[in-house]
Amino acid sequence: MKDTYLSLVNGPLKQVAKTLGLPQPVELNRFGSTPASYENKPVLVLGTGPGAQGLADQLLENGLEVRRNAQTGEKLRAIIAVLDDAQSPADLSPVVLEIGAALRSLAACGRVVTISTAPDPQNQTPEQAATTQGITGFTRSVAHEMRAGATANGILLDGVDLAAPSVAAALWFLLSGKSAYVSGQFLTVSSDAGQRLSLNEFMSTGDAGPLAGRTAVVTGAARGIGAAIAENLARDGACVIGVDMPQAGQALAQVMNRIGGKSLQLDITAADAPDKITEALGGSVDILIHNAGITRDKMLANMDAAKWDSVIAVNIAAQTMINARLAEKGLFADGAQVVSLASTSGIAGNRGQTNYATSKAGVIGLTAASAEDFAARGGAINAVAPGFIETDMTAKMPTLTRQVARRLSSLQQGGQPIDVAEAIAFLSSSGARGINGQTLRVCGQNMVGA
Ligand code: NAD
Repeated sequence: MKDTYLSLVNGPLKQVAKTLGLPQPVELNRFGSTPASYENKPVLVLGTGPGAQGLADQLLENGLEVRRNAQTGEKLRAIIAVLDDAQSPADLSPVVLEIGAALRSLAACGRVVTISTAPDPQNQTPEQAATTQGITGFTRSVAHEMRAGATANGILLDGVDLAAPSVAAALWFLLSGKSAYVSGQFLTVSSDAGQRLSLNEFMSTGDAGPLAGRTAVVTGAARGIGAAIAENLARDGACVIGVDMPQAGQALAQVMNRIGGKSLQLDITAADAPDKITEALGGSVDILIHNAGITRDKMLANMDAAKWDSVIAVNIAAQTMINARLAEKGLFADGAQVVSLASTSGIAGNRGQTNYATSKAGVIGLTAASAEDFAARGGAINAVAPGFIETDMTAKMPTLTRQVARRLSSLQQGGQPIDVAEAIAFLSSSGARGINGQTLRVCGQNMVGA
């Protein structure tokens, strides 16, 4: 659905919006629409420890223009702060103040990325925990202060150092237009699993893409976010099998014809769904995206069994059953990666959505609890929690509620299905296998549950 307000304030009403102090969301730079003039701008790497210089060298090797000090009058595409050596909150001062001084030089749709040790209160001293947790509060607050489509996010090192392959993949994702609608979030890297991808490999498409040679199953692929996921995984080189209800067969066929994929008409709640999926694959699963989902909103006082049960059945019970059966039969390939669709409603709860929020919080729990099993096969399982995304599902909202929901994020606009699809393609890539059991919000730093 089109956000008319966004077009107006970037066109005829730009000056009016500025004069009246109205929200002024900007068109985001996404993959494929990021101008070369932006990509050629330098990245400022801050930090006093050896990690900062190592990272600067790594960026140089990947063809980026790098600065260790801000230069007057020069616009930056990103500011990266390496804070993994901070031991006490007082250690943060020099670097954070340098970030502050450089912020005015950040280009529109620029990036701030902090890299720090993951908070671990069980194993860190109180002072260290105050520091590591403090950095997360800092990063989230910087994200709230960003202007003109810029974002701030963090990479957390959980028992790994900066050389872990998934640190590189997380950095490429966060620096690129693929993370346009991700802000105020953290990617925790907890193992050295995965392949080290260069920036060029990460950004390539088709046969050279990061998913080349792998087969991906996407449920609910006939429309909306699912169709965007299928298209995006195919763009990055995967062979796609799209699954959707028989009623959506025609729409599914159209999406699959566009991307050279295969259609599988199937209700994922059917007891034989896992068998049908493996039959269609003719082998084991490399990538599985649990996207199919439904809403049946009602206040709890008016909730009936049909509305409650159907949402639980599609949104969580089917995923649990499919994962368990595939694992039981040894049908997850070595290195298999699963990504499930959660929702910010599953994090914050939502009026009129007790059924939906239960199912989506369930997805977050299922993901975290399955991480160990997937790691044992050399793979990973993660979830993505979209905020307000422009789809048929959100087009059903009353007009005023929809307008308010769009502006309630730091980026002051709804996301596009492609934004969710980019996060999913990243979490499906071999470079991201060191990120496991996590839920990544794609919500423009929506205030809901923030
Ligand atoms: P959508 O309603 O546009 O598409 C969902 C697809 O899933 C449809 O094609 C539908 O036919 C299919 N489906 C439903 N039940 C099925 C079943 N039993 N078996 C097979 N296929 C089935 O939804 P969307 O907005 O594209 O959302 C996709 C996912 O993202 C859902 O899990 C949703 O909960 C989640 N999500 C969406 C938003 C948003 O703002 N749109 C926000 C948070 C989370």
